[in-house]
Amino acid sequence: MEAKAKYKNWSLQEDENKILWLELNCANEEVNVLSFAVLQELEAIIADIQVDPSRYSGIVIISGKEPDFIAGADVKEIAAVSDMNEAVTHIRKTQILFSQIEALPIPVVAAINGFCLGGGTELALACHYRLASDERHTQIGLPEVKIGIHPGFGGSVRSLRLLGVFQGMSFILEGRNIDALHAKKLGLVDDVMPLRELRRAAIYYIQHKPKVKKGSWINRVTDISFVRNLLGVLFKKKLAAKIKSEQYPAPYAVIDNWINVGSLEEKAFATEAESVGKLLSTPTCKNLLRVFFLQGKLKASGKETDFKVRHIHIIGSGVMGGDIAAWCAVHGLRVTLQDPSLKALGSAVSRTYELAKKRLKQKHLIQAAVDRLCPDPNGDGIAYADLILEAAVEKLDLKHEIFKQIEAHARADAIFATNTSSLRLADIATVLAQPQRLVGIHFFNPVSYMPLVEVVKGKQSDKTTIAYAAAFVRQIKKLPLPVEDAPGFLVNQILGGYFAEAFKALATGESVGVIDAAGRRLGMPMGPLELADQVGLDVCLDVSEHLMGNDATAAQTLLREKVDKGELGRKTQKGFYRYSRGKLVREKITPDPEKLAKWERQLFLGMLNRALLCLDESVVNSVDLVDAGVIFGAGFPPFQGGILQYARTMDKQNLAKELAEYRNTSVQAVEATSAWKLLW
Ligand code: NAD
Repeated sequence: MEAKAKYKNWSLQEDENKILWLELNCANEEVNVLSFAVLQELEAIIADIQVDPSRYSGIVIISGKEPDFIAGADVKEIAAVSDMNEAVTHIRKTQILFSQIEALPIPVVAAINGFCLGGGTELALACHYRLASDERHTQIGLPEVKIGIHPGFGGSVRSLRLLGVFQGMSFILEGRNIDALHAKKLGLVDDVMPLRELRRAAIYYIQHKPKVKKGSWINRVTDISFVRNLLGVLFKKKLAAKIKSEQYPAPYAVIDNWINVGSLEEKAFATEAESVGKLLSTPTCKNLLRVFFLQGKLKASGKETDFKVRHIHIIGSGVMGGDIAAWCAVHGLRVTLQDPSLKALGSAVSRTYELAKKRLKQKHLIQAAVDRLCPDPNGDGIAYADLILEAAVEKLDLKHEIFKQIEAHARADAIFATNTSSLRLADIATVLAQPQRLVGIHFFNPVSYMPLVEVVKGKQSDKTTIAYAAAFVRQIKKLPLPVEDAPGFLVNQILGGYFAEAFKALATGESVGVIDAAGRRLGMPMGPLELADQVGLDVCLDVSEHLMGNDATAAQTLLREKVDKGELGRKTQKGFYRYSRGKLVREKITPDPEKLAKWERQLFLGMLNRALLCLDESVVNSVDLVDAGVIFGAGFPPFQGGILQYARTMDKQNLAKELAEYRNTSVQAVEATSAWKLLW
């Protein structure tokens, strides 16, 4: 191969077949991103090729940074944009560059291995052929809607052209990554092959020039103005069942752009660019960018060690232990699962199969995940595991017994963890001869949906144990949030405020349906009572007794009545709601909007009050970590950027007054707190 001119991020090599290999390896970045600098260099490279393209038989765009192709545009640069006109100019310039690539008279192949996201996918869409490795880490997507914008480098136009409006719209609107086989089925990539064949396949495509895939004739029919108007209404209706346009405007903008100009004509590109320019200045975009960076912050913890868990032993196979076991098995860990109840162990095995089926798709991978889970009623696995996680019933005496057994049989270098929601680590650790080995690893319910895991730093836990726990959480692709060993830690403290207000409202005679509707109006994924059913009313009772003592007597009486009747929520198919074949039966209600607004505010104040108290008590040490916890652990609406970020958008004096009334104190008392000062 002959090396060409030197660039900082791209390396150019011409091979004996006259193929030019454009290899991207971003300088000083962990992953390849399409930063201004990278695009500027690409512009110069393409300009040079355009002088005489016939010098080459074809071009292959490939990554020189294993294991990823291109992770997207540079989000740091997006977040720093302040001049929207400048942003639109940059987007237009990149669109033109990609169109120049598309117009080259020689074949251009994107050879994709690893993550190919956002701008990376848009660049690939501008190439004539897209080939993808069948590696598990090859994931292709347009996740822009997750940061409050939509594809801007021609991606929304080209995916509608290539995939057709039905498949193309869902690809853009859902912002989901898909694997190579799925991408092939969709028509997004031309071929999928083992990684070792990728380069050879690229050469084959350049030498044989198979017919370039274009959209079908149906695209021309669906792109007619009146059809667009009709279909647009349907797309919006479907979207409205999931998200509101005032909260998440970007997906609606994609549909509107298409209704207005379609995808087949050149003006679709200009419309796309203008639309991204407008979205960049919306509060939703700013808040979602904040959420993106908060996620990055959490991902960074756990990096200080290369500790890996090969074998985890889990004690307790109930709602949590069973699901944690399933999650770990699906993520490649050997799991031994201990519970005196064989029924509970059996249920965990079938949940593992269901999760593996959903996540891993291929038969041999599903089977391997199920095989990694070993029911272990006698607890033999304790002696071999790297990490032993207790997730048994929330009773201190029982946990003491379990930890004595663990310490007696575990390997000397194993770490111990508890999934307790409401007990103090310091109290659990009293029976241990080496209490420094104990850390809290607190998952949220449902385990497969909730990305957050609190890593609880007991006063007795040593630094290495905490670092190992965070590394384990990253290993299984969850987000670790370091918290202090305070009652309820961070997220349950805050959710406690949500529940407490719901129970107060119930005590006034308000209906379950209205209270939950108020929670959803706030943007929470579930109302507080539906969430209580999901968590389990027995667990809620235990937690409220441990956390709130006599402060929640009314709630406890109500919960105890239900628990005594065996109505434990979803797991017994009856709680605050009735369930039919596992599905919640919701009664139709038309709540009074004023009432809804009142309860929504109460639920918000209940959570905000607790969030500020947590900050005052240093359960976590920053506004950012509170917001990360409440979004990723409690499902607080990301478009608000977190509960404290949301509070910041309100009138400071009014909010202080409301909180003072809520707390029954003076405004000055609220304003004097350290959390309040951090907030403003
Ligand atoms: P659960 O009642 O569903 O399951 C508890 C399991 O522990 C049962 O299967 C029971 O058979 C088993 N068990 C009882 N004695 C045992 C023993 N000696 N050895 C091993 N297993 C034993 O409870 P859960 O909801 O899974 O909660 C478990 C733990 O997780 C608790 O500490 C709870 O606070 C915590 N937690 C619960 C939630 C939630 O939403 N349910 C969320 C986070 C954390």
